[in-house]
Amino acid sequence: MTIPAIPNLVIQLILATSVVLFLSSLLPIRRICAMLPRGRARSTWRIMGALLTLAAVGVAIFLRINTTDGPDNYEDWIVSLVFLAASIFVFTVSTLALHTARDLSKIVDLERAAIIDPVTELFNRRHIMALLDAQCQHSCKHNSPFSILLIDVDNFKAINDTFGHRTGDTVLKELGRVISHIIPESRAIGRYGGEEFLVILPQSASSQAWRIAEELRKAVQATKIASQRTLIDSPTISIGIATAFGWKETSEDLIEIADEALYSAKAAGRNCICHAFESSGRQSASRFTTVPATQ
Ligand code: GH3
Ligand code: MG
Ligand code: MG
Repeated sequence: MTIPAIPNLVIQLILATSVVLFLSSLLPIRRICAMLPRGRARSTWRIMGALLTLAAVGVAIFLRINTTDGPDNYEDWIVSLVFLAASIFVFTVSTLALHTARDLSKIVDLERAAIIDPVTELFNRRHIMALLDAQCQHSCKHNSPFSILLIDVDNFKAINDTFGHRTGDTVLKELGRVISHIIPESRAIGRYGGEEFLVILPQSASSQAWRIAEELRKAVQATKIASQRTLIDSPTISIGIATAFGWKETSEDLIEIADEALYSAKAAGRNCICHAFESSGRQSASRFTTVPATQ
């Protein structure tokens, strides 16, 4: 049985399609590179892109020199089919990889939105409370103390009323930044409410918590916040501290104690820190020590 010769035009069309598919794969690869941070994965995709460019050039050269019709062109036919299969595979994989990268990035955005407060870019209330619950359980299990700081911006309503809500938002964002700057990275900071922040200080006994709170108070007072042609000079915060001793304290207990301490700090004239020392677990009375601003 004789196999009819394949017209060279068909082979050339297949080769041209392969070149187009190889080159079209470069676009999704470029987009994937743009989504990835600097690193090994991005470098690997870049190398892939360079190899594909070389492959496209190679096929184009083969297309250029392959001009002979005739019964002996089966090899060209097979080679062109291999190029076509390879280019379809590469195009499908790169397009699929781009879609997967986009879906993953949407999931990451959604996960971030679920735990981050959009104004301050700190953890939102739900997440910081989940972290506090986890910290309480850890502290209970290992019998290790930790402290929380409940921070409230002083006279914040006046800032809103005088300079507007947008400036108020800028102040919250800036104070969130100042607090994050002071608090060590391993610690959790969240926006607990309107102008209230909650900081969890694992393995921090009263004295460490006090030192950090005082550092925070001073840093905030030294802050100048420019917003919409106004300058908010020396905003102040009041801080309530509660320390858990690993005696089965719940997050609600600690927040309640820190809130009472915060109330005392406000009553003492604001720009103050108050620490509630709980001596023997939930049922005992708390003793408060308030330290007014030392400037
Ligand atoms: P104090 O020193 O006793 O804490 O007084 P304060 O004025 O800070 O407290 P108050 O509870 O009276 O006011 C809190 C204000 O915070 C009221 C509310 O409008 C404002 N607030 C709450 N959430 C936001 C927000 O997301 N953005 C802005 N700009 N303001 C907010
Ligand atoms: Mg408040
Ligand atoms: Mg306030």
